[in-house]
Amino acid sequence: MKKLHTFNPWQRPQAGMFRELLAGEGISCLVRNEQIVGAMGEIPFLECYPELWVVDDDVLPRARMLLEKWLKEDPSAEPWTCPACGEVLEGQFGACWKCGQRIDG
Ligand SMILES: [Zn+2]
Repeated sequence: MKKLHTFNPWQRPQAGMFRELLAGEGISCLVRNEQIVGAMGEIPFLECYPELWVVDDDVLPRARMLLEKWLKEDPSAEPWTCPACGEVLEGQFGACWKCGQRIDG
């Protein structure tokens, strides 16, 4: 079993989504640190990072290639600039953390 990718804590839904997509390609994966979303603050921050693991080592190169392609295609991964206050935000955020402006206006 090999680690494919480490997600940021706010990318937790994406980790599950990519697991499903890879399963659709015949690649068995599992997500570690998936169920501890309610425990933030009680455990060391680093342990909250969801990790995507490929069960079969042989398909790791293919899984990595697919994941990189999907990550590039995912528009939500693009950083954006808040039109209201100019703050640059990670694409995973749907609203500005600084002033509350929504990405879709
Ligand atoms: Zn803003």
